[in-house]
Amino acid sequence: MSLITDLSKSRYCKGFQCPKILWLDHYKPEEAENNLSETVMENGNLVGDLARSYFGEYSLVEFSFDKSEMTAKTQEFIDAGAENIAEAAFMTDGLYCAVDILHKNGDGWDIVEVKSSTHLTDIYIEDMSFQYYVLTSCGVNVKRVFNMHINSSYVRKGELDLKGLFTIEDCTDTAKEKLASVAERVAAIRKYISVTEEPERDIDTYCEKPYECAYKKYCGRHLPDHNVFDLAGIQARTAYKHYHNGIVSYEDLLANAKKIKLSDKHRRQIEATLNNSPDEVDKPKINEFLDTLTYPLYHLDFETFQQAVPEFDGVSPYQQIPFQYSLHIEQADGTLEHKEFLAKEGTDPRRALAEQLVKDIPKGVCSLAFNMSFEKKVIKCLAETFPDLANGLMDIYENMHDLMIPFREQDYYSAAMQGSYSIKYVLPALYPDDPELDYHNLEGVHNGGEASAAFAEMTSHTPEEIAVIRANLLKYCGLDTYAMVKVLRKLKEAVQ
Ligand code: SF4
Repeated sequence: MSLITDLSKSRYCKGFQCPKILWLDHYKPEEAENNLSETVMENGNLVGDLARSYFGEYSLVEFSFDKSEMTAKTQEFIDAGAENIAEAAFMTDGLYCAVDILHKNGDGWDIVEVKSSTHLTDIYIEDMSFQYYVLTSCGVNVKRVFNMHINSSYVRKGELDLKGLFTIEDCTDTAKEKLASVAERVAAIRKYISVTEEPERDIDTYCEKPYECAYKKYCGRHLPDHNVFDLAGIQARTAYKHYHNGIVSYEDLLANAKKIKLSDKHRRQIEATLNNSPDEVDKPKINEFLDTLTYPLYHLDFETFQQAVPEFDGVSPYQQIPFQYSLHIEQADGTLEHKEFLAKEGTDPRRALAEQLVKDIPKGVCSLAFNMSFEKKVIKCLAETFPDLANGLMDIYENMHDLMIPFREQDYYSAAMQGSYSIKYVLPALYPDDPELDYHNLEGVHNGGEASAAFAEMTSHTPEEIAVIRANLLKYCGLDTYAMVKVLRKLKEAVQ
Protein backbone atom coordinates (compact mmCIF):
# COMPACT_ATOMS: atom_id res chain seq x y z
CA MET A 1 0.00 0.00 0.00
CA SER A 2 1.89 2.99 -1.14
CA LEU A 3 0.31 4.23 -4.35
CA ILE A 4 -1.72 7.42 -4.16
CA THR A 5 -4.74 5.44 -5.43
CA ASP A 6 -4.50 2.88 -2.60
CA LEU A 7 -7.30 3.38 -0.11
CA SER A 8 -7.53 2.40 3.53
CA LYS A 9 -10.85 2.86 5.33
CA SER A 10 -9.80 6.20 6.80
CA ARG A 11 -8.62 7.44 3.40
CA TYR A 12 -11.86 6.24 1.85
CA CYS A 13 -13.85 8.20 4.47
CA LYS A 14 -11.76 11.31 3.82
CA GLY A 15 -12.33 10.88 0.10
CA PHE A 16 -16.03 10.44 0.76
CA GLN A 17 -16.10 13.80 2.53
CA CYS A 18 -14.08 15.50 -0.22
CA PRO A 19 -11.56 13.86 -2.58
CA LYS A 20 -9.44 16.97 -2.56
CA ILE A 21 -8.44 16.19 1.04
CA LEU A 22 -6.60 13.12 -0.29
CA TRP A 23 -5.03 15.12 -3.10
CA LEU A 24 -3.78 17.75 -0.65
CA ASP A 25 -2.62 15.08 1.82
CA HIS A 26 -0.37 13.79 -0.94
CA TYR A 27 0.83 16.96 -2.65
CA LYS A 28 0.49 19.74 -0.07
CA PRO A 29 0.34 18.18 3.41
CA GLU A 30 2.11 21.22 4.86
CA GLU A 31 -1.09 23.24 4.32
CA ALA A 32 -3.06 21.13 6.83
CA GLU A 33 -3.87 22.52 10.24
CA ASN A 34 -4.21 19.83 12.87
CA ASN A 35 -7.72 20.07 14.27
CA LEU A 36 -8.16 16.82 16.16
CA SER A 37 -7.38 17.29 19.83
CA GLU A 38 -5.12 14.88 21.68
CA THR A 39 -7.89 14.13 24.16
CA VAL A 40 -10.24 13.04 21.36
CA MET A 41 -7.57 10.73 19.94
CA GLU A 42 -6.69 9.31 23.36
CA ASN A 43 -10.36 8.63 24.13
CA GLY A 44 -10.67 6.86 20.77
CA ASN A 45 -7.65 4.61 21.42
CA LEU A 46 -8.76 3.70 24.93
CA VAL A 47 -12.29 2.84 23.78
CA GLY A 48 -10.97 0.71 20.89
CA ASP A 49 -8.65 -1.24 23.21
CA LEU A 50 -11.39 -1.87 25.78
CA ALA A 51 -14.02 -2.93 23.25
CA ARG A 52 -11.84 -5.83 22.08
CA SER A 53 -12.82 -7.82 25.19
CA TYR A 54 -16.55 -7.29 24.63
CA PHE A 55 -17.05 -10.77 23.14
CA GLY A 56 -14.50 -12.48 25.39
CA GLU A 57 -11.01 -13.66 24.49
CA TYR A 58 -9.52 -12.28 21.30
CA SER A 59 -6.46 -12.58 19.08
CA LEU A 60 -4.80 -9.29 18.19
CA VAL A 61 -3.20 -8.57 14.85
CA GLU A 62 -0.30 -6.34 15.85
CA PHE A 63 0.23 -3.20 13.80
CA SER A 64 2.87 -3.33 11.09
CA PHE A 65 3.79 -0.89 8.34
CA ASP A 66 3.88 -3.95 6.13
CA LYS A 67 0.15 -4.53 5.55
CA SER A 68 0.73 -7.94 3.99
CA GLU A 69 2.20 -9.07 7.32
CA MET A 70 -1.05 -8.06 9.01
CA THR A 71 -3.26 -9.81 6.46
CA ALA A 72 -1.14 -12.96 6.75
CA LYS A 73 -1.44 -12.90 10.54
CA THR A 74 -5.21 -12.47 10.23
CA GLN A 75 -5.42 -15.52 8.00
CA GLU A 76 -3.32 -17.45 10.51
CA PHE A 77 -5.81 -16.62 13.28
CA ILE A 78 -8.75 -17.58 11.08
CA ASP A 79 -7.13 -20.89 10.22
CA ALA A 80 -6.39 -21.55 13.89
CA GLY A 81 -10.12 -21.21 14.69
CA ALA A 82 -10.06 -17.83 16.51
CA GLU A 83 -13.47 -16.63 17.71
CA ASN A 84 -12.59 -12.93 17.86
CA ILE A 85 -9.84 -11.14 15.98
CA ALA A 86 -8.98 -7.54 16.83
CA GLU A 87 -7.57 -5.40 13.98
CA ALA A 88 -8.30 -8.20 11.48
CA ALA A 89 -6.67 -6.97 8.27
CA PHE A 90 -7.81 -7.50 4.68
CA MET A 91 -6.47 -6.22 1.39
CA THR A 92 -7.70 -6.47 -2.17
CA ASP A 93 -6.87 -4.53 -5.31
CA GLY A 94 -5.28 -1.59 -3.49
CA LEU A 95 -8.05 -1.43 -0.88
CA TYR A 96 -7.21 -2.12 2.73
CA CYS A 97 -9.04 -2.25 6.04
CA ALA A 98 -8.41 -3.41 9.58
CA VAL A 99 -11.67 -4.45 11.25
CA ASP A 100 -11.85 -3.36 14.90
CA ILE A 101 -13.35 -6.71 15.91
CA LEU A 102 -14.04 -9.62 13.60
CA HIS A 103 -16.43 -11.85 15.52
CA LYS A 104 -17.17 -15.46 14.52
CA ASN A 105 -20.83 -16.07 13.65
CA GLY A 106 -21.54 -19.68 12.67
CA ASP A 107 -19.91 -20.35 9.32
CA GLY A 108 -19.22 -16.65 8.77
CA TRP A 109 -18.07 -13.49 10.49
CA ASP A 110 -19.52 -10.30 11.91
CA ILE A 111 -17.80 -6.97 11.36
CA VAL A 112 -17.82 -4.81 14.51
CA GLU A 113 -16.72 -1.21 14.08
CA VAL A 114 -15.98 0.56 17.38
CA LYS A 115 -16.41 4.31 17.89
CA SER A 116 -15.79 6.49 20.92
CA SER A 117 -18.74 8.76 20.13
CA THR A 118 -22.18 8.34 21.66
CA HIS A 119 -24.22 7.87 18.48
CA LEU A 120 -24.19 6.45 14.99
CA THR A 121 -23.43 8.91 12.17
CA ASP A 122 -23.58 8.77 8.38
CA ILE A 123 -19.80 8.64 8.00
CA TYR A 124 -19.66 5.55 10.25
CA ILE A 125 -22.10 3.85 7.87
CA GLU A 126 -19.77 4.70 4.97
CA ASP A 127 -16.83 3.36 6.95
CA MET A 128 -18.61 0.06 7.66
CA SER A 129 -19.86 -0.25 4.08
CA PHE A 130 -16.26 0.09 2.87
CA GLN A 131 -15.16 -2.69 5.23
CA TYR A 132 -18.06 -4.87 4.11
CA TYR A 133 -17.03 -4.29 0.49
CA VAL A 134 -13.36 -5.14 1.14
CA LEU A 135 -14.15 -8.29 3.13
CA THR A 136 -16.70 -9.63 0.66
CA SER A 137 -14.24 -8.88 -2.18
CA CYS A 138 -11.70 -10.99 -0.26
CA GLY A 139 -14.22 -13.84 -0.16
CA VAL A 140 -15.10 -13.53 3.54
CA ASN A 141 -18.61 -14.67 4.42
CA VAL A 142 -19.84 -11.56 6.26
CA LYS A 143 -23.01 -12.27 8.24
CA ARG A 144 -23.68 -9.02 10.07
CA VAL A 145 -22.21 -5.53 10.31
CA PHE A 146 -22.39 -3.79 13.67
CA ASN A 147 -21.51 -0.38 15.01
CA MET A 148 -20.44 -0.36 18.65
CA HIS A 149 -20.41 3.01 20.35
CA ILE A 150 -20.53 4.53 23.81
CA ASN A 151 -23.81 4.43 25.72
CA SER A 152 -24.10 7.93 27.19
CA SER A 153 -26.61 6.85 29.85
CA TYR A 154 -24.22 4.34 31.39
CA VAL A 155 -23.22 5.18 34.96
CA ARG A 156 -20.21 3.41 36.38
CA LYS A 157 -20.77 1.37 39.55
CA GLY A 158 -17.73 -0.59 40.66
CA GLU A 159 -16.05 -2.68 37.96
CA LEU A 160 -16.47 -1.48 34.40
CA ASP A 161 -19.41 -3.22 32.71
CA LEU A 162 -18.59 -3.43 29.00
CA LYS A 163 -22.14 -4.55 28.10
CA GLY A 164 -23.48 -1.41 29.77
CA LEU A 165 -20.79 0.94 28.49
CA PHE A 166 -21.31 0.04 24.84
CA THR A 167 -24.37 0.11 22.62
CA ILE A 168 -24.41 -2.10 19.54
CA GLU A 169 -26.43 -1.19 16.46
CA ASP A 170 -27.04 -3.59 13.59
CA CYS A 171 -26.19 -1.79 10.35
CA THR A 172 -26.15 -4.83 8.05
CA ASP A 173 -29.02 -3.77 5.79
CA THR A 174 -27.65 -0.27 5.20
CA ALA A 175 -24.14 -1.58 4.56
CA LYS A 176 -25.57 -4.08 2.05
CA GLU A 177 -27.56 -1.39 0.23
CA LYS A 178 -24.41 0.69 -0.12
CA LEU A 179 -22.20 -2.02 -1.61
CA ALA A 180 -22.62 -0.86 -5.21
CA SER A 181 -22.07 2.77 -4.32
CA VAL A 182 -18.78 1.88 -2.57
CA ALA A 183 -17.37 0.49 -5.82
CA GLU A 184 -18.46 3.64 -7.70
CA ARG A 185 -17.08 5.92 -5.02
CA VAL A 186 -13.72 4.11 -4.99
CA ALA A 187 -13.45 4.56 -8.77
CA ALA A 188 -14.40 8.26 -8.57
CA ILE A 189 -11.93 8.98 -5.76
CA ARG A 190 -9.13 7.20 -7.59
CA LYS A 191 -9.78 9.15 -10.75
CA TYR A 192 -9.80 12.42 -8.83
CA ILE A 193 -6.56 11.89 -6.95
CA SER A 194 -4.56 10.39 -9.80
CA VAL A 195 -4.06 13.77 -11.54
CA THR A 196 -0.90 15.62 -10.65
CA GLU A 197 -2.22 19.10 -11.43
CA GLU A 198 -4.15 20.61 -8.51
CA PRO A 199 -7.88 20.00 -9.10
CA GLU A 200 -10.34 22.91 -8.80
CA ARG A 201 -12.73 22.40 -5.90
CA ASP A 202 -14.81 25.16 -4.37
CA ILE A 203 -15.50 25.25 -0.65
CA ASP A 204 -18.90 24.05 0.56
CA THR A 205 -20.67 22.47 3.53
CA TYR A 206 -18.53 19.35 3.10
CA CYS A 207 -15.63 21.43 4.44
CA GLU A 208 -17.44 21.40 7.83
CA LYS A 209 -19.05 17.96 8.00
CA PRO A 210 -18.64 15.23 9.07
CA TYR A 211 -15.30 16.69 10.22
CA GLU A 212 -14.00 20.22 10.03
CA CYS A 213 -11.44 19.97 7.24
CA ALA A 214 -7.82 20.70 8.07
CA TYR A 215 -7.40 22.53 4.74
CA LYS A 216 -10.11 25.15 5.25
CA LYS A 217 -7.63 27.99 5.51
CA TYR A 218 -5.84 26.90 2.34
CA CYS A 219 -9.00 26.36 0.29
CA GLY A 220 -10.52 29.58 1.62
CA ARG A 221 -7.45 31.69 0.89
CA HIS A 222 -9.36 33.65 -1.77
CA LEU A 223 -11.89 34.95 0.77
CA PRO A 224 -11.64 38.65 1.61
CA ASP A 225 -10.94 39.82 5.16
CA HIS A 226 -14.30 40.13 6.96
CA ASN A 227 -16.53 37.79 5.02
CA VAL A 228 -19.81 35.95 5.48
CA PHE A 229 -18.09 33.13 7.42
CA ASP A 230 -17.05 35.65 10.09
CA LEU A 231 -20.63 36.51 11.02
CA ALA A 232 -21.07 35.42 14.64
CA GLY A 233 -23.25 32.35 15.05
CA ILE A 234 -24.20 32.07 11.36
CA GLN A 235 -25.18 28.53 10.33
CA ALA A 236 -22.70 26.92 7.94
CA ARG A 237 -25.49 26.06 5.50
CA THR A 238 -26.62 29.70 5.34
CA ALA A 239 -23.08 31.06 5.01
CA TYR A 240 -22.25 28.72 2.09
CA LYS A 241 -25.57 29.57 0.42
CA HIS A 242 -24.69 33.29 0.48
CA TYR A 243 -21.15 32.52 -0.63
CA HIS A 244 -22.31 30.53 -3.66
CA ASN A 245 -24.72 33.36 -4.53
CA GLY A 246 -21.77 35.75 -4.66
CA ILE A 247 -22.61 37.45 -1.36
CA VAL A 248 -19.25 37.13 0.32
CA SER A 249 -17.77 40.35 1.71
CA TYR A 250 -19.32 42.55 4.38
CA GLU A 251 -20.08 45.09 1.64
CA ASP A 252 -21.92 42.37 -0.35
CA LEU A 253 -23.91 41.46 2.73
CA LEU A 254 -24.99 45.04 3.35
CA ALA A 255 -25.90 45.54 -0.32
CA ASN A 256 -28.11 42.44 -0.19
CA ALA A 257 -29.38 42.96 3.36
CA LYS A 258 -33.05 42.91 2.42
CA LYS A 259 -32.81 39.93 0.09
CA ILE A 260 -30.99 37.74 2.61
CA LYS A 261 -32.92 39.07 5.64
CA LEU A 262 -29.76 40.20 7.42
CA SER A 263 -30.39 40.14 11.19
CA ASP A 264 -29.96 43.29 13.29
CA LYS A 265 -27.11 41.66 15.21
CA HIS A 266 -25.22 40.81 12.03
CA ARG A 267 -25.86 44.27 10.58
CA ARG A 268 -24.45 45.76 13.76
CA GLN A 269 -21.37 43.52 13.57
CA ILE A 270 -20.76 44.44 9.92
CA GLU A 271 -21.29 48.19 10.35
CA ALA A 272 -19.16 48.36 13.49
CA THR A 273 -16.31 46.58 11.66
CA LEU A 274 -16.54 48.59 8.44
CA ASN A 275 -16.83 51.93 10.25
CA ASN A 276 -14.34 50.94 12.94
CA SER A 277 -16.94 52.25 15.37
CA PRO A 278 -16.06 53.16 18.95
CA ASP A 279 -17.43 50.97 21.74
CA GLU A 280 -21.15 51.44 22.41
CA VAL A 281 -22.45 51.36 25.96
CA ASP A 282 -26.07 51.11 27.10
CA LYS A 283 -25.55 52.67 30.53
CA PRO A 284 -29.01 52.02 32.03
CA LYS A 285 -28.87 48.36 31.05
CA ILE A 286 -25.35 47.89 32.40
CA ASN A 287 -26.30 49.67 35.62
CA GLU A 288 -29.27 47.35 35.91
CA PHE A 289 -26.89 44.39 35.69
CA LEU A 290 -24.38 45.88 38.14
CA ASP A 291 -27.17 46.52 40.64
CA THR A 292 -27.91 42.79 40.81
CA LEU A 293 -24.43 42.13 42.25
CA THR A 294 -23.66 42.28 45.97
CA TYR A 295 -20.30 42.38 47.74
CA PRO A 296 -18.11 40.60 48.59
CA LEU A 297 -18.36 39.14 45.10
CA TYR A 298 -16.99 35.67 44.35
CA HIS A 299 -15.59 35.33 40.80
CA LEU A 300 -15.59 31.58 40.10
CA ASP A 301 -14.25 29.43 37.29
CA PHE A 302 -13.94 25.62 37.03
CA GLU A 303 -11.64 23.47 34.95
CA THR A 304 -13.00 20.05 34.06
CA PHE A 305 -12.10 16.94 32.13
CA GLN A 306 -14.22 14.31 30.41
CA GLN A 307 -13.64 10.61 29.90
CA ALA A 308 -15.27 8.35 27.30
CA VAL A 309 -14.68 5.49 29.73
CA PRO A 310 -15.53 6.75 33.21
CA GLU A 311 -12.85 5.99 35.74
CA PHE A 312 -14.87 6.80 38.86
CA ASP A 313 -18.09 5.52 40.40
CA GLY A 314 -21.24 7.50 39.68
CA VAL A 315 -19.80 9.05 36.52
CA SER A 316 -21.23 8.73 32.98
CA PRO A 317 -19.23 8.81 29.73
CA TYR A 318 -18.19 12.35 28.80
CA GLN A 319 -19.53 13.81 32.05
CA GLN A 320 -17.70 17.00 33.03
CA ILE A 321 -15.54 16.20 36.06
CA PRO A 322 -14.27 19.31 37.87
CA PHE A 323 -10.69 19.08 39.09
CA GLN A 324 -9.79 22.72 39.68
CA TYR A 325 -11.27 26.09 40.46
CA SER A 326 -10.11 29.64 40.94
CA LEU A 327 -11.90 32.14 43.11
CA HIS A 328 -11.22 35.87 43.22
CA ILE A 329 -13.08 37.47 46.09
CA GLU A 330 -13.72 41.14 45.42
CA GLN A 331 -14.79 43.64 48.06
CA ALA A 332 -16.91 46.71 47.24
CA ASP A 333 -13.77 48.88 47.37
CA GLY A 334 -12.05 46.65 44.78
CA THR A 335 -9.76 44.82 47.21
CA LEU A 336 -9.02 41.29 46.02
CA GLU A 337 -8.32 38.00 47.75
CA HIS A 338 -7.50 34.84 45.78
CA LYS A 339 -8.38 31.24 46.68
CA GLU A 340 -7.90 28.16 44.53
CA PHE A 341 -8.22 24.42 44.44
CA LEU A 342 -6.34 21.89 42.32
CA ALA A 343 -6.97 18.20 42.93
CA LYS A 344 -4.19 15.71 43.49
CA GLU A 345 -3.34 14.07 40.20
CA GLY A 346 -4.63 10.55 39.63
CA THR A 347 -7.48 10.85 42.17
CA ASP A 348 -11.23 11.33 41.89
CA PRO A 349 -11.23 15.10 42.41
CA ARG A 350 -14.94 15.66 43.03
CA ARG A 351 -15.39 15.17 46.78
CA ALA A 352 -12.33 17.19 47.85
CA LEU A 353 -13.23 19.97 45.41
CA ALA A 354 -16.86 20.14 46.57
CA GLU A 355 -15.84 20.21 50.25
CA GLN A 356 -13.34 23.01 49.64
CA LEU A 357 -15.80 24.97 47.50
CA VAL A 358 -18.49 25.11 50.18
CA LYS A 359 -15.84 26.24 52.68
CA ASP A 360 -14.50 28.94 50.36
CA ILE A 361 -17.90 30.37 49.34
CA PRO A 362 -20.04 31.24 52.39
CA LYS A 363 -23.80 30.87 52.21
CA GLY A 364 -25.80 33.75 50.80
CA VAL A 365 -22.96 35.53 48.99
CA CYS A 366 -23.14 36.51 45.36
CA SER A 367 -20.96 34.53 42.97
CA LEU A 368 -20.15 35.38 39.39
CA ALA A 369 -19.19 33.22 36.41
CA PHE A 370 -18.73 33.95 32.73
CA ASN A 371 -21.31 31.78 30.94
CA MET A 372 -22.68 30.46 34.22
CA SER A 373 -24.67 27.58 32.69
CA PHE A 374 -21.44 25.56 32.68
CA GLU A 375 -20.50 26.31 36.31
CA LYS A 376 -24.11 25.72 37.42
CA LYS A 377 -24.25 22.36 35.70
CA VAL A 378 -21.04 21.26 37.40
CA ILE A 379 -22.30 22.44 40.82
CA LYS A 380 -25.69 20.72 40.40
CA CYS A 381 -23.99 17.49 39.47
CA LEU A 382 -21.76 17.71 42.57
CA ALA A 383 -24.83 18.37 44.74
CA GLU A 384 -26.54 15.26 43.34
CA THR A 385 -23.44 13.17 43.95
CA PHE A 386 -22.81 14.42 47.51
CA PRO A 387 -26.18 14.98 49.21
CA ASP A 388 -24.48 15.96 52.50
CA LEU A 389 -22.92 18.96 50.70
CA ALA A 390 -25.97 19.73 48.56
CA ASN A 391 -27.22 22.49 50.82
CA GLY A 392 -24.07 24.57 50.50
CA LEU A 393 -23.57 23.76 46.83
CA MET A 394 -27.12 24.64 45.85
CA ASP A 395 -26.80 27.90 47.76
CA ILE A 396 -23.90 28.83 45.45
CA TYR A 397 -25.98 27.65 42.49
CA GLU A 398 -28.94 29.85 43.45
CA ASN A 399 -26.84 32.96 44.07
CA MET A 400 -24.80 32.84 40.90
CA HIS A 401 -24.85 35.65 38.31
CA ASP A 402 -23.57 35.67 34.77
CA LEU A 403 -20.97 38.22 33.66
CA MET A 404 -21.62 37.27 30.05
CA ILE A 405 -25.10 38.85 30.02
CA PRO A 406 -24.14 42.50 29.25
CA PHE A 407 -22.12 41.23 26.28
CA ARG A 408 -24.63 38.65 25.08
CA GLU A 409 -27.34 41.35 25.16
CA GLN A 410 -24.94 43.74 23.42
CA ASP A 411 -25.33 46.32 26.21
CA TYR A 412 -21.58 46.74 25.88
CA TYR A 413 -20.63 46.47 22.24
CA SER A 414 -17.19 46.67 20.70
CA ALA A 415 -16.37 46.12 17.04
CA ALA A 416 -13.37 44.07 18.16
CA MET A 417 -15.71 41.44 19.68
CA GLN A 418 -16.71 40.57 16.11
CA GLY A 419 -20.29 39.92 17.13
CA SER A 420 -19.22 37.30 19.68
CA TYR A 421 -19.78 37.40 23.42
CA SER A 422 -17.36 34.63 24.32
CA ILE A 423 -14.62 35.63 26.79
CA LYS A 424 -12.06 34.84 24.06
CA TYR A 425 -13.34 37.86 22.13
CA VAL A 426 -14.58 40.05 24.98
CA LEU A 427 -11.33 40.16 26.97
CA PRO A 428 -8.95 41.23 24.15
CA ALA A 429 -11.57 43.68 22.92
CA LEU A 430 -11.73 45.38 26.34
CA TYR A 431 -8.00 45.12 27.03
CA PRO A 432 -6.15 45.06 23.71
CA ASP A 433 -2.41 44.42 23.98
CA ASP A 434 -2.44 43.98 27.75
CA PRO A 435 0.33 41.43 28.47
CA GLU A 436 -1.07 40.74 31.95
CA LEU A 437 -4.28 39.43 30.38
CA ASP A 438 -2.78 37.71 27.36
CA TYR A 439 -3.13 33.92 27.59
CA HIS A 440 -0.33 33.53 25.02
CA ASN A 441 2.10 34.70 27.68
CA LEU A 442 1.32 31.75 29.95
CA GLU A 443 3.58 28.70 30.15
CA GLY A 444 2.26 25.30 29.08
CA VAL A 445 -1.49 25.81 29.60
CA HIS A 446 -3.30 28.41 27.49
CA ASN A 447 -6.89 27.16 27.28
CA GLY A 448 -9.42 24.79 28.84
CA GLY A 449 -8.54 21.93 26.46
CA GLU A 450 -4.87 22.12 27.39
CA ALA A 451 -5.78 22.29 31.09
CA SER A 452 -7.87 19.07 30.87
CA ALA A 453 -5.15 17.28 28.93
CA ALA A 454 -2.44 18.46 31.36
CA PHE A 455 -4.36 17.21 34.39
CA ALA A 456 -5.35 13.91 32.78
CA GLU A 457 -1.81 12.95 31.87
CA MET A 458 -0.06 14.34 34.94
CA THR A 459 0.51 10.94 36.58
CA SER A 460 2.81 9.93 33.73
CA HIS A 461 5.32 12.65 34.76
CA THR A 462 8.15 12.88 37.29
CA PRO A 463 7.50 14.75 40.58
CA GLU A 464 9.55 17.70 39.27
CA GLU A 465 7.51 17.87 36.08
CA ILE A 466 4.27 17.51 38.04
CA ALA A 467 5.24 20.54 40.14
CA VAL A 468 5.72 22.59 36.97
CA ILE A 469 2.43 21.42 35.43
CA ARG A 470 0.53 22.19 38.62
CA ALA A 471 2.03 25.67 38.74
CA ASN A 472 1.01 26.22 35.10
CA LEU A 473 -2.53 25.03 35.78
CA LEU A 474 -2.87 27.33 38.79
CA LYS A 475 -1.65 30.31 36.80
CA TYR A 476 -4.02 29.55 33.93
CA CYS A 477 -7.14 29.13 36.03
CA GLY A 478 -6.16 32.11 38.21
CA LEU A 479 -6.03 34.27 35.10
CA ASP A 480 -9.55 33.16 34.15
CA THR A 481 -11.07 34.70 37.27
CA TYR A 482 -8.70 37.67 37.31
CA ALA A 483 -9.87 38.38 33.77
CA MET A 484 -13.44 38.39 35.06
CA VAL A 485 -12.49 40.94 37.72
CA LYS A 486 -11.01 43.13 34.99
CA VAL A 487 -14.02 42.73 32.70
CA LEU A 488 -16.35 43.77 35.51
CA ARG A 489 -14.08 46.73 36.24
CA LYS A 490 -14.42 47.82 32.61
CA LEU A 491 -18.22 47.68 32.87
CA LYS A 492 -18.11 49.83 35.98
CA GLU A 493 -15.84 52.38 34.28
CA ALA A 494 -18.13 52.45 31.27
CA VAL A 495 -21.09 53.66 33.31
CA GLN A 496 -19.22 56.24 35.33
S1 SF4 B 1 -11.31 22.64 2.69
FE1 SF4 B 1 -13.11 21.86 1.66
S2 SF4 B 1 -12.62 21.86 -0.48
FE2 SF4 B 1 -10.69 22.02 0.61
S3 SF4 B 1 -10.01 19.95 0.84
FE3 SF4 B 1 -11.14 20.42 2.65
S4 SF4 B 1 -13.21 19.73 2.27
FE4 SF4 B 1 -12.16 19.84 0.29
